[in-house]
Order: sequence, then C-alpha cells, then structure tokens
Amino acid sequence: MKKRYLVGNLKMNLNSVSETEQYLVALRKESFGKRINGVEVVVAPSSVSLERFSRELPEPFLLGAQDVFWEKEGSYTGQTSAPMLHDLHASFVIVGHSERRLYAHETDAEIGWKVRTALHEHLRPILCVGETAEEREQGEEADVVSRQIVEAFRDIPPLSAERVLIAYEPRWAIGSDTTPESEEIFEMRIVIHRALADAYDPTVADKIPVLYGGSVKLSLLERVCFEPRMDGVLVGRESLYPHELVRIAQAIGEHESRKGDGSDINSQ
Ligand code: PEP
Repeated sequence: MKKRYLVGNLKMNLNSVSETEQYLVALRKESFGKRINGVEVVVAPSSVSLERFSRELPEPFLLGAQDVFWEKEGSYTGQTSAPMLHDLHASFVIVGHSERRLYAHETDAEIGWKVRTALHEHLRPILCVGETAEEREQGEEADVVSRQIVEAFRDIPPLSAERVLIAYEPRWAIGSDTTPESEEIFEMRIVIHRALADAYDPTVADKIPVLYGGSVKLSLLERVCFEPRMDGVLVGRESLYPHELVRIAQAIGEHESRKGDGSDINSQ
C-alpha cells in the first residue's frame, strides 16, 4: 500500500512551556491505543519547542520543523540550521510555506537552496507551492506552481528528489474558509506531476508524494484528499487540536485500507 502523509503545522502557537506540555500530554492521550495504519504523521512545532517535542513526542508521530536556513552554520542571526534539526531527530522540514514567502519574502531560488541543504542533512523537505487568488483569477496557477517546482528541484539528482514531499497549498485557501473544488485540486496535482515528469521522468514523478493544504478539517477530507487522489494533507489550525489531528490520521488510514492501493495518479 502506498504511504500517506499527514503534516500538522503548529505555526507560531503554543506560546508557553505549559501550553506546549498540555499539547504533548493531549496528543499522547488521544493517540493511545489508536490504530493509525499506513500514515506518517508529522508534527511541526515552532523552533523554540523543537527540543521538548524531540524528547516527548509520542509514537507514532514524527518530528518536523517549520523552516531551515540554507547555510549549515555561521553568522546568520535568528536562523536554524539543518544539522541543528537533524541533531534534534527531526525527520521532516517544511520549506517555502506561503507565510514565509509572504512575510519573509523568500524567493524560489532561496527555497531551492533550503531544499538542497535539508536533503544533504537527511531531512525530508515538505515543499509548499501554490498560487495567490490574483494569479488564479489571471489563469496563471499552472505556470506559477510549475515555476516554483522547477526552481526548487534545480540541480537535485533524481534519487534525492524522490525524498521530497510537495504540499499544494493555494494561498487563498490557507487560514481562510474557502475550499477549492476536488477538480481544481486534481488539476493542480496533474500540473505538479507533469512539472516533475519534465524535470526528471514519470517514474521519479510517481514517487514524489503530493499533499493538499489549506483549511483542511476532517469533514473536508473526501473533497480535498480522497476525491482528488492526494497522498495526504498538510493541516494548520486543526492540528492545534490533538483529537482532530488523530481523527484525521485515522480517517486517512481507514480510507486507504478500505480501498487498498490504486490511487496512484498513473494507475487509474
Ligand atoms: C498551513 O499551515 O499550511 C495551512 C494549510 O493552514 P490552515 O490549515 O490553517 O489553513
């Protein structure tokens, strides 16, 4: 069965040690004894909480970071290096999130450097791509997302590329209550697959998981994940509720075991 992914991006939340502790305790309680089959569940707290999560994150959750710098060490005030994340046993790192593109003015080239550095330190990058509302209105979404992919994968050899995950996150759907139609998500999944197949070949493209992100909640899983045949979801706000995170993970696992494999974009 093909592996599925659920990424919880806690963003700049859990503002104190006690809130962090409460979250971890709740996550342990909610997941205790529950079967979460075939889904890798990644939790990405703020960099300040990484150390505590590294010690206390219960199984089967995996640790992710929300960002990484492209240099490995040196005079880069405020940055977090890939070796630091690796040392904390993080296995994933979100790269190029739209909030970083927006507030930190990250460019496609910088995001590509981050992807490379993460891979070099054995972290799996979760590359976020997506168009703005204006770009979609202009009909530019395919060009924008293809360009983001080409830049991020520049100079990355195929074997490393296969370790990257992509999260398609239309910016207009993040932190809003606007949800794309399944067809719109599926069309972008095809665009992403095509960009990867052009950059490498279809076999490599098949191996790169493509997730959906943007106002995901349990009740929308059919529309944003199962129907458009995504390999999982990236969840922001709902991941702040451990019981919701666990329910989403279970729902994805149950859906996969009900249908078996065959959701591969090229296997239909
Ligand atoms: C995100 O953090 O990428 C995200 C999709 O957030 P939300 O689920 O809150 O829209």
